Amino acid sequence: MYQIIKKNSQTNLKKIYLHSISRKHMILSFYKYFFVNDPKKLLNLIKIKLEKKNILGRIYISEEGINALISIPIIQYKYIKHFFKNINKNTKRMYMNYTIEDKKIAFWDLKIIFKKQIVSNKIKNFSFYGRNQGIYLNAWLVNKYFFDPNCIFLDMRNSYEYEIGHFSNAMTLPAQTFREQLEKLPKYLDLHKNKKIIMYCTGGIRCEKSTALLKYYGFPHVYHIYGGILSYIKQVKKYNLPNYFKGKIFVFDARLSEKITDDILSKCMNCQKYTDRVHINCFNDFCHRLFIQCRTCSIKLNSCCCLTCKNTLYK
Ligand SMILES: [Zn+2]
Ligand SMILES: [Zn+2]
Repeated sequence: MYQIIKKNSQTNLKKIYLHSISRKHMILSFYKYFFVNDPKKLLNLIKIKLEKKNILGRIYISEEGINALISIPIIQYKYIKHFFKNINKNTKRMYMNYTIEDKKIAFWDLKIIFKKQIVSNKIKNFSFYGRNQGIYLNAWLVNKYFFDPNCIFLDMRNSYEYEIGHFSNAMTLPAQTFREQLEKLPKYLDLHKNKKIIMYCTGGIRCEKSTALLKYYGFPHVYHIYGGILSYIKQVKKYNLPNYFKGKIFVFDARLSEKITDDILSKCMNCQKYTDRVHINCFNDFCHRLFIQCRTCSIKLNSCCCLTCKNTLYK
């Protein structure tokens, strides 16, 4: 499951220290699907160029493209942006999302890793290089389709992300992994085959694949939100549009979540009361389940997810 803090080597600690004293940071997230002829070569190039650049986070390289979530000092923004936009002709027009970070440290190390896929789906016989995905929607169109009964909104994130915030009309696809979601997808949506299917995820990367898969299965009207929820929120603010995304958004760094609206959508797993608290891991390490718990239940169960976990812990 999801864990934040890992043991750190001396070099990492030094990196974190240098990062934290370099005043203002921003979190940059971007991805691009394109055919990478020699992923190891690209990986080395990035390592060499960025090693001394005071960056934390993670960058995944694979034969199918690049996926990155990094924290950088603001003064390096121009350099980093220019560097990644020029690593390949396909990345020239890549959308890069950024948020200005408050004082908190968002990452504890820098990982530049080779992966088989930049977003793991492990679907057999479904090769994908971004050729045939759905149609992109900007925030204005998202809002237009929001009230259209002929449209189905589908949240492609994990259930713990959906739990704390989503578009109020969105369906979610119950599954443990992205792979499982993709496998269930065509059957799950079969009833709505002729409707407009509008998919979204945090930054848009999952929907590059999920929309392509749906089209592969013959769905005629497949759309996805350009740049995901992150970009939708930015556009809504910039152009003063109504915002139909409610609650909080789960972010994959040490901040855990970012508040979008004051609405509280999440419930305590134990008593089902609405609660504003963030996800925790079950205090029983053998369980370690990620869940939401209200203060009262947390005291009652010593931050365990259930009585069994609590009892085995304090036997
Ligand atoms: Zn409770
Ligand atoms: Zn537990």
